[in-house]
Amino acid sequence: MWKWLLLLAAIYVLYRLFANDFLKKKKTDEKEKAEEMDRKAATGEMVKDPECGVYICADAGITVRDGDKIHRFCSYDCRDKFLRRLKEGGRRLPPEI
Ligand SMILES: [Zn+2]
Repeated sequence: MWKWLLLLAAIYVLYRLFANDFLKKKKTDEKEKAEEMDRKAATGEMVKDPECGVYICADAGITVRDGDKIHRFCSYDCRDKFLRRLKEGGRRLPPEI
C-alpha cells in the first residue's frame, strides 16, 4: 500500500518541478520582452503611450505638445482621455494634428 503512496508522492514532486520550470520560463520571457521594450524606449525608438501604456514608434502616433515635452498616443481615444485628465487637473493643452 505505501508503495502507491510513494509513487504518488514521486509523481507529485515531478509535476511540481515541471510546473515550476514552466512558470519560471514564462516569467523570464515576459521580463525579457519588457526589458527590450524599455531598451527601445531608452534609445528613443519606441515611446510609451502615457494613457494605456502601449509602446509605439517614436515617429508615429498622435502627438500632444506639453511645453518642450511631446506625448505620443496610440489612438485619438487615448489622446482625448489624456487631455481630459489634464483638464480635470486644471491644465489644458492644445492637441497637435
Ligand atoms: Zn493608448
